[in-house]
Amino acid sequence: MDISKISTLDRASVLHPFTQLKEFASGKMGDPTIVTGGKGVHITDVTGQRLMDGFAGLYCVNIGYGRTEVAEAIAKQAHELAYYHTYAAHTTEQLATLSDRLVRMAPGKASKVFYGMSGSDANETQAKLVWYYNNLRGLPKKKKIISRERGYHGCSVFSGSLTGMSFYHDHMDLPFGGVLYTGSPHYYWNAEVGEDERAFSRRRAAELNALIEREGPETVGAFIAEPVLGTGGITPPPAGYWEEIQAVLQRHDVLLIADEVICGFGRTGAAFGSSLYGMEPDLVTVAKGLTSGYIPLSGAIVSEKVFKVMEDGADRVGSFSHGYTYSGHPIGAAAANAVLDICERDNLTEHARTVGAYMQQKMTDTFAQCDIVGEVRGVGMMSALEFVADRGKKTRLDPSLKVAARISAAARKRGLIARAMPHGDILGFAPPLVMTTAEVDEMISIASASVRQVMDEMAAG
Ligand code: PLP
Repeated sequence: MDISKISTLDRASVLHPFTQLKEFASGKMGDPTIVTGGKGVHITDVTGQRLMDGFAGLYCVNIGYGRTEVAEAIAKQAHELAYYHTYAAHTTEQLATLSDRLVRMAPGKASKVFYGMSGSDANETQAKLVWYYNNLRGLPKKKKIISRERGYHGCSVFSGSLTGMSFYHDHMDLPFGGVLYTGSPHYYWNAEVGEDERAFSRRRAAELNALIEREGPETVGAFIAEPVLGTGGITPPPAGYWEEIQAVLQRHDVLLIADEVICGFGRTGAAFGSSLYGMEPDLVTVAKGLTSGYIPLSGAIVSEKVFKVMEDGADRVGSFSHGYTYSGHPIGAAAANAVLDICERDNLTEHARTVGAYMQQKMTDTFAQCDIVGEVRGVGMMSALEFVADRGKKTRLDPSLKVAARISAAARKRGLIARAMPHGDILGFAPPLVMTTAEVDEMISIASASVRQVMDEMAAG
């Protein structure tokens, strides 16, 4: 492989997401990393360097890399029928089988699945479903969607608006109208002095209630949230949070959209984050783990309650006018069935629960007393280290020191991918669910050496 040719072609022609364009174009950032292979929890680059992937790509390769069963299922479907659409009631065996499976396993009382290609487009669909549902109910004003500060729901026009971090909006003319934001569930930074987790959850629910009443419940259609806040900081909900929040939503007839794009399919050690936290969502968004990233596929899962209104309204409004060329793509469905077969056969959720508990304990044992770690948190196979300047006073580090980014870079040099999360000084871990306890030990040992290295550099000034 001609490395310099690939780098040159790439630099000249690829618009990379989340990349400083000038630094990349000028070469200041160095060459692109050319990824050539993957096996288990490791990827390999073109130079032959093997990296342990402590973030499963972008929290998606749950079954690990190189699973030939999935590649074979994809090839088989491509040979038999590479494509047909699902408009006007067309289907395939793989799609019908997958949909039945998802309806049976999804949290809440699921009825139907609408398919897309990404978490972002699935959340666009969810917004349209909320608007459609309330139009059909004769409630045309009940349309606003409440999201949370630090929530991440995608990058397209409306899903990007639902994302509650301003740097995803800046210079892009977002957010779009019709989105409201309420406080994040980040107990560590947002709790008041002396406020315990339950009191914090009650306060967040009271704030949500006040927001809905201020706007007018007749104008609020839905609340969207990740069961465990992901990109905003890998933050499990504080005690009692979902109970309190759901009571407010029910009081005001506001739908709950559970964005399970990260949490779904075992990441938290339960089948879905919603099942872990007693959530009863009306709409559920899935992507990532559904195919473990082997091919793009997402789903907007619709509950019986929402579907009933859609079905009852059909004689009045005609057909459901929403769909993509690739909705329910047969190759995506075949890949998802093969992935879910592996998850079931290998008890991956159970594995994530036990190895995840081990990982959380080991993270705490290794980092809880570290001078620059304010909080070690996580659930199942997702963890975060929150770096601070002063643990006792809970003061933030100077952002210009870029501590998490430096630790992430140091880890990478030692052969580990751990993600400097985009908002705050946070190092995130979300390895493939197949990771073993020995690999967890290795991952944490590299992370620990990397934290120590950057602490030493900071001490040396
Ligand atoms: N929702 C959540 C919770 C996510 O974490 C993501 C992506 O990280 C998305 C939605 C968007 O998914 P995609 O990047 O596939 O559009």
